[in-house]
Amino acid sequence: MDILYPLTADINSYVPFEMNFLQKIFGHKQPDKQSNEPASQPRTVEQIQEATNRLWALLRETVEYYKSVACPCAFPRFIQYTSIDCRETHNSFYTSETEGFIQTSGDCFEGKEIDKDDECYKAIYTCKTCGSTYLNAWSDFSIRVSRTYLKPIELKAKQIGADAEQPTPFFVGLFGHSYPDRADFKHLGFDEFRGYVRALKNGT
Ligand SMILES: [Zn+2]
Repeated sequence: MDILYPLTADINSYVPFEMNFLQKIFGHKQPDKQSNEPASQPRTVEQIQEATNRLWALLRETVEYYKSVACPCAFPRFIQYTSIDCRETHNSFYTSETEGFIQTSGDCFEGKEIDKDDECYKAIYTCKTCGSTYLNAWSDFSIRVSRTYLKPIELKAKQIGADAEQPTPFFVGLFGHSYPDRADFKHLGFDEFRGYVRALKNGT
């Protein structure tokens, strides 16, 4: 598993996520440090690594759960994460939940490479279970920041997962050079996030 931490010195723009962590790394002083982030927010490299390991294990188990009841395509909240594309907001960031879901669900899909345009890689992914099709792309923006997406073209699965909510909940979150509006994302604790990605339409 290749987990990326874009710990680059050129992160100098607005950094809404893991701000304290990055400041610790680069030694920037934060005057009057006031944090209203939850206490569970990762603070050190070790804590972020540990949270990321927990997240990926959870996402892997969640994909297995999706497969046990249908396929990932039946879960709008899976697609909510895999569809995040920082280029849509003209930013450059990596979303842990997005990368984790796309990598751990890879064997659910058959990929067929197509013309890559301005991406490093582009493919049509077809779900082996329901035949839904997706556009998959990958690009790197710097030596440390890359992003992948898996956006639905045609969904064929009956939607059994609960609808996606806004702001987008995350457990580990975003890393990069520039970020979307912080109000579009919200941090959840592990158990809450687990409940969110597994919820069914009828609230179970
Ligand atoms: Zn499917």
